[in-house]
Amino acid sequence: PDSRVAILVPGRISPRVTERLSERFELIAVPHGTELALSPQEAERVRGVAVSGQLTADWIAKLPHLEMIASFGVGYDGVDVHAAAARGIVVSNTPDVLNDEVADTTIALLLNTVRQLPQAETWLRQGRWASEGPFPLSPLSLKGRHVGIHGLGRIGLEIARRLEPFKVRISYCTRRPRTDVSYAHFPTLLGLAEVVDVLISIVPKTPETIGAIDADVLRALGPRGVLINVGRGTTVDEPALIAALKNGTIAAAGLDVFTNEPQVPKELIDLPNVSLLPHVASASVPTRNAMADLVVDNLISWFETGRALTPVPETPQKA
Ligand code: NDP
Repeated sequence: PDSRVAILVPGRISPRVTERLSERFELIAVPHGTELALSPQEAERVRGVAVSGQLTADWIAKLPHLEMIASFGVGYDGVDVHAAAARGIVVSNTPDVLNDEVADTTIALLLNTVRQLPQAETWLRQGRWASEGPFPLSPLSLKGRHVGIHGLGRIGLEIARRLEPFKVRISYCTRRPRTDVSYAHFPTLLGLAEVVDVLISIVPKTPETIGAIDADVLRALGPRGVLINVGRGTTVDEPALIAALKNGTIAAAGLDVFTNEPQVPKELIDLPNVSLLPHVASASVPTRNAMADLVVDNLISWFETGRALTPVPETPQKA
């Protein structure tokens, strides 16, 4: 029998994670169904998990000797951290290594949305430039805008720094103001939406953020308003957004995330004033490799030193 520490890998994850883990650990890979397909003997052996996406309380309960869950991605809403914390199991995520990539993608999505660049490229590719003439002028521009950032954390701050050379005004909404920035702080999202004409959302999925961008916030954003969501799809009331885009309550939206991924409402796909991406904000080979390495390095650190590198705040390590 394998005397190495056993790590469970439920479902799909970056091959770099499984390759590197298998150099040091016994790997137990299982499909990501609703039922944990493990024999009781195997479940007994598992001391660590590497997962991209969901790990429910039900699964955690079936692993009696679990010590550490390394989650792929900075958002860890798929892992039941409270079930883990109740048993002293440490959960890690992959913060910071993706900040630049996600912020770069956010700027690209903002420009695509405002200037309709994907539609313009389609126009060229379909031969319409030659047959029909120039692509129609974009009704919107980034010039002179006031951008509100919903969530000025690790990624939000990188987005704000990138926006500065665009000569837009910048304000933000968080629960607690930051002391290291001079942007105007708004304690409520509605208050922020009332003064800005672009809203960029980069908050985690929490009970408080679910549905936070609702019909009232969209109305406050106004008819020139542009919504960009790169945080979590659940932050936006999707039916309210579709209605707002259809009836001119806001002007346009750019979305990388959706409520029920990978399902995207056909009504959104059919709208001309949206730019849609399939959750690719961090999805480059270099950045995903850095995230994969941090997943593996968290597990190695835990089993070699008893400390994870980047534990989440809900499952703190003892000092
Ligand atoms: P951080 O924890 O560094 O930042 C989160 C920010 O959100 C903080 O400024 C926090 O401030 C604010 N926030 C949290 N709750 C609320 C609330 N109820 N109202 C207002 N502001 C709130 O996280 P990151 O910047 O590293 O990542 C943010 C999220 O982005 C991730 O959790 C993930 O879900 C998503 N993401 C999406 C990606 C994609 O591929 N599209 C890629 C990477 C991340 P405060 O605590 O003061 O309220």
